Amino acid sequence: MAITVAVNGACGRMGSRVVALVCENKDLKLVSALERDGHPSLKKDIGAILGLGNLGVLLTTEIEGKADVLIDFSSPEALEKRIDNCVKKGVAMVIGTTGLLDSHHKKLQQASKSIPCLVSPNMSIGVNLVFDIVTQVSKALGEGFDIEIIETHHRFKKDAPSGTALRIAERICEATKRDMKTDVVYGRQGITGERPGKQIGIHAVRLGDTIGDHTVIFSNLGERIEINHRAHSRDTFVRGAIRAAKFIAGKPPGLYSMQDVLR
Ligand code: NAD
Repeated sequence: MAITVAVNGACGRMGSRVVALVCENKDLKLVSALERDGHPSLKKDIGAILGLGNLGVLLTTEIEGKADVLIDFSSPEALEKRIDNCVKKGVAMVIGTTGLLDSHHKKLQQASKSIPCLVSPNMSIGVNLVFDIVTQVSKALGEGFDIEIIETHHRFKKDAPSGTALRIAERICEATKRDMKTDVVYGRQGITGERPGKQIGIHAVRLGDTIGDHTVIFSNLGERIEINHRAHSRDTFVRGAIRAAKFIAGKPPGLYSMQDVLR
């Protein structure tokens, strides 16, 4: 039996590709396409809206019928509104939305006691490999190397720095006993003084239609290592989200990550 899927943010840049690729996948069945109150296309067929031909699923503001999994690429506020509903209906969640606050993470932690929730700021296989590589490299290099992270995204991105850049910094902090609160700076300006050895600088560039680039630089006084990831298409993330949806359907309640999917 196909896994039934609801898509939150179905008309967005990511959501629209999720709808398209879910419909191409024989193991999945789209049952609900969700958008915000007041969206101009509500009550129209999502397939017709996205130029895919009629799919028999209307754009709505609430989950229709029974969905096994909700795939969410929306906004932190929009996600927050869906959590209670998914808990009530027993719908597993795959969450790609970034810019989540501590309060959202707490709410998801609570929800994960009754439903499976998979949260990942980046669903691409390559970036999840980069998370492991930077952990390994930062441990191996030890002290004496400056670490900087540069991320570039399209001009429409609403949060900065990217969830991926933050996750990279978290992984380096865990691996090298740095502290996200005291050792990470977000850009620099003015008379900053010399760079403290443990500092990690994160820089957010916003450019045209760039889908998502991340570079992590490790440098001492004699050499430099650069680890680079570039997403060429949003479908890269969508394929990861679909893999995550298949993984999480039917799993026991709990908090999962892409590392669990790729293991
Ligand atoms: P977008 O603005 O194009 O799409 C968001 C959609 O959500 C819009 O269509 C909007 O109308 C809709 N929305 C707003 N309120 C809603 C509500 N209450 N209910 C349902 N839908 C609602 O943004 P995007 O570029 O598609 O990105 C969406 C999110 O996904 C961002 O947080 C982005 O950073 C993140 N993202 C994550 C990954 C990943 O791999 N995890 C990859 C790319 C983007």
